[in-house]
Amino acid sequence: MPETPIPSVIRTLRFKVRREGYAWLEAAAVEVNQVWNWSNEVSYKAARPYSGPPRWLSGFDLDKLSSGATKCFEHIGADTIQKVNAEFARRRRQFRKSKLRWRVSRGSRRSLGWVPFKAASIRRNGRALRFCGKTLRVFESERFLGIRQWQDGCFCQDAVGDWWLCLPARVAIESNVAPEPDVGIDLGLHATATTSDGAVLDAGRAYRDLEQRIGMAQRRGHKRHAKRLHRKASRCRANALHRFSRKMVNTYQMIVVGDVSSLKLVKTRMAKAVLDSGWGMLRTQLQYKGESAGRCVRVVSERNTSRTCSACGALTGPAGVNGLRVRHWVCGECGCAHDRDVNAAKNILAAGRCSPSMCGNEPSPRHAPPSRTPRPRKAGKARDGAAA
Ligand SMILES: [Zn+2]
Repeated sequence: MPETPIPSVIRTLRFKVRREGYAWLEAAAVEVNQVWNWSNEVSYKAARPYSGPPRWLSGFDLDKLSSGATKCFEHIGADTIQKVNAEFARRRRQFRKSKLRWRVSRGSRRSLGWVPFKAASIRRNGRALRFCGKTLRVFESERFLGIRQWQDGCFCQDAVGDWWLCLPARVAIESNVAPEPDVGIDLGLHATATTSDGAVLDAGRAYRDLEQRIGMAQRRGHKRHAKRLHRKASRCRANALHRFSRKMVNTYQMIVVGDVSSLKLVKTRMAKAVLDSGWGMLRTQLQYKGESAGRCVRVVSERNTSRTCSACGALTGPAGVNGLRVRHWVCGECGCAHDRDVNAAKNILAAGRCSPSMCGNEPSPRHAPPSRTPRPRKAGKARDGAAA
């Protein structure tokens, strides 16, 4: 009898490795660094040889050159070497450089540990897992036991020095219908997120609250403590965003978000507030949680959303740098009183309702007034093509 496929998606699950495995993983990470640096050197020499034509080595070429290297290493196996080669070749192609940075194993500027693996090289051994002849235990082993099938992943180290197992696994989709139809979410600095129904996620103060303590720890030379506090701030931030995005996904069937980017604003005086708000993280969470719950998540342009009156559509709202402090205003055309952020969220929702979307998770085309929409330029090209 054929099995009916359960709708599922790939999620990367993180498990904290228990402390007794750290020393082994750190030794393995040094060997990974050696493989990476060897790949870097060999492919650089091949790209600029003393004589003969240059060659751009692929991951497959590096695999062939490094065959038999396993016996030089005590911890890692051939699978890990091949994964390092593949990752090196991918990064090199991505950044279009003949040489990448060395991975540093020791000293204050050392690279954070990283040990990639193939799916088949991880075996389950009771509640623990077996990797390259070493038994490693993870926290939350019940959650680990619940995974049926996983893909290639890695062990990675964070700045504090803790090791994590990152395991992409297949997770079933929960299918239910949300009680409310749709919502628009305006991302901002005064409040991190405001919905068109008036709910507010207060501005992130995760870093601000710990800023003084981080500064004190740094001045006293307690680097490790400072790193711990930084990690605490980022976890507080992530927690608030997770709660908010989960509430949104559970409540609404369609979610429309503005496309605010923090890249430009981090260069201004607002940088700390912008980075503390975590817009990108919230958008990512909404997208992946929405995908696994069968919701429609749309990203639309934020242009003019705070200036437009959501009742009549006139551009009567506050504009420019001086307009940023105006929280409430009254429309000059229709006399409607607005809260700045709620009005913007309503406009975002309206923009999301009008443009059709193919799968629900791609950014919609830039929302522009009709007069300024660029005309399609395909006509001329098509004619040339027909003539040729
Ligand atoms: Zn109006």
